[in-house]
Amino acid sequence: MQTVDHISFTGKKALIRVDFNVPLDKKTYEITDDARIRATIPTIKKILADGGSCILMSHLGRPLKKLKEDGSVDYDKHTLKHTVNRTAELLGVPVKFAEDCMGQQTAQMAAALKPGEVLLLENVRLYKEEEKGDVEFARKLSSYGDVYVNDAFGTAHRAHASTTVVAQFFPKAKCFGYVMAREIENAEKVMKNAARPFTAITGGAKVSDKLLILNNLIDRVDNLIIGGGMAYTFLKAMGYEIGSSLCEDDRLDLCLSLIKKAESKGVKLLLPEDSVVADAFSNDANHKVCDNKMIEKGWMGLDIGPKAIEANNAVIRASKTILWNGPMGVFEMSNYEKGTKAAAIAVAQATDDGAFSLIGGGDSAAAVAKFGFESKVSYVSTGGGALLEYFEGKELPGIKAILN
Ligand code: AMP
Repeated sequence: MQTVDHISFTGKKALIRVDFNVPLDKKTYEITDDARIRATIPTIKKILADGGSCILMSHLGRPLKKLKEDGSVDYDKHTLKHTVNRTAELLGVPVKFAEDCMGQQTAQMAAALKPGEVLLLENVRLYKEEEKGDVEFARKLSSYGDVYVNDAFGTAHRAHASTTVVAQFFPKAKCFGYVMAREIENAEKVMKNAARPFTAITGGAKVSDKLLILNNLIDRVDNLIIGGGMAYTFLKAMGYEIGSSLCEDDRLDLCLSLIKKAESKGVKLLLPEDSVVADAFSNDANHKVCDNKMIEKGWMGLDIGPKAIEANNAVIRASKTILWNGPMGVFEMSNYEKGTKAAAIAVAQATDDGAFSLIGGGDSAAAVAKFGFESKVSYVSTGGGALLEYFEGKELPGIKAILN
């Protein structure tokens, strides 16, 4: 895998696709979490240390889809200007800003860039050509740099101009930044070289999205734990009463076929035996533990119950590879956090015993962080959609464009 470590950037201009799509305060537009900027700093520093210069391009939100009420672009909300100061602080060097990612002035700023300097371009998604993967738009972006570096794993599943199409203009001068390289290495460790037993834990609320990854995972894992909001569609498919628990009725047949597939492949499938059910989607609602074979009308499962926790723990603790995507319950509410917290503890203990554990996706990462286990697992991925598509077995266009 060609990374920034394999290229000398002395006297070269690196055109880097970074992921500066950071959350901003709604009123002040201050950055509320700079993790994505921090993640890519080592890549930029390596290039500058070589004696190269960096032209950074990124998106921020979806400026052409989230228009103001009068139909105009909400520039204040979508300008990457908000990220200039923080990036400069973290790098310890000034960051120039091009008010546009196209145009003569931008081209001049890029051409005038000296070794050791950094230029950030304005949001590439201010042009419809970006998401369309327009070749001419990509060609113009490519004209600013000598080497293309992709360090934006979060958009690796998009065949956009700055993430994928631009790479074709650098047939011999393209590579991955450190963020991308680390994400790919860790995802491959799980998907290609998993030590056994391999356990996947899936939960959360986006049932149909998650079902897509199960089909591929069943071909690879020894154990599959299903919890969170996902479990109830399976339980209903098996003929159980699930009250008003989360359910996608048009996915019942798919659930049954996944259960059959797991059986035929010898995969141990763990569906929760019990739940913490509540009479409303609220932390203040009445709640109790109940067997999953019969959830009463008007009650919904918001966490896995104690029997499920015990069964899951035994399997997790005996695993050598663990992939976790999606919480076991509504962990944001204290009355329904136990299942997710117990899974985090079990994953941390298994990791301590030598297992490799990968936590994927926004909410699983948030849960692990909430309970203070971030440093006790092997790797927390930054990629939501990109990671899920990887686990579905899809080739990600942003990765393919560098490898080809
Ligand atoms: P996802 O983005 O698919 O990983 O879903 C994460 C969300 O699923 C979190 O906000 C959880 O609160 C929610 N969730 C987990 N378990 C349940 C459940 N049993 N019912 C409804 N929502 C749930």
